[in-house]
Amino acid sequence: MAQMELAGMPRRLFACTPSRLAAFEDCPRRYRMIYLDRPRPPKGPAWAHASFGVSVHNALRRWWEEPFELRTPARAAQLARLLWVDEGFRDAAHSASWRERAAEMVAGYVTGLDPAAEPRGVERSVAARTEALAFSGRVDRLDERDGELVVVDYKTGRRPLTDADARSSPALALYALAAGRMLRRACRRVELHHLPTGRVAVAEHTEDSIARHVRRAESVAADAVGATEALRAGADPDQAFPPRPGNLCSWCDFRALCSEGQAVGPQRQPWDALGDEPAAADA
Ligand code: SF4
Repeated sequence: MAQMELAGMPRRLFACTPSRLAAFEDCPRRYRMIYLDRPRPPKGPAWAHASFGVSVHNALRRWWEEPFELRTPARAAQLARLLWVDEGFRDAAHSASWRERAAEMVAGYVTGLDPAAEPRGVERSVAARTEALAFSGRVDRLDERDGELVVVDYKTGRRPLTDADARSSPALALYALAAGRMLRRACRRVELHHLPTGRVAVAEHTEDSIARHVRRAESVAADAVGATEALRAGADPDQAFPPRPGNLCSWCDFRALCSEGQAVGPQRQPWDALGDEPAAADA
């Protein structure tokens, strides 16, 4: 049934995560295939870069769950090996070399941390409502520094990140809003921790900058709701949710089902986004 607003009735909020909003902005067709089409269309093979990122995130989460005396770089490396996600790699040797790279990366990263500085949350679920959104998500790490909360997001991709990336991230701004409201603490600072380089990209939000992100998210949500209502009213799926071919098509799980996406660029191997192979390791 189409979403309606009746006088006196509470307005129905659009339940979403940052990934859901980003999926619609990136490509409406891809959004439809992920969130609306049922049965869900088959996805392509697993991506090695996604496995690498998940493994690193899991190791860092578990590291903070360790007792204080075990929060060492060696333990971080051990956790990366234990929690390794072995999907999407070329072969066992390729997987092993990237597993060692992950172990080295998390060990190097935690060397720069104070193991006694207990975060306020690790992979902490947060949620907030705005006039049009019921937003939820999970923050990689929520620090408390000098009485204020800081949103920390780990990044493992190849591209170095800038302060502009931190400032323009809708996810980080919405996390700051939600964390601040839930824990009743100021939360303005958001950080992208780029593990491959050790660089930290920082933004300090204001009420205005967060409000701008909320307005933008609400606008994306309104477009997604409008397209969904049109689809349910019988519109052509490709008109309601048009493809948006671009650079992301090479990494899209649904490229095999999308002629427009196939026309954009060559088929990628599942491990291509990792880049140069690290030094060989025993499989
Ligand atoms: S291949 Fe490209 S255009 Fe097609 S659904 Fe995926 S992102 Fe959209």
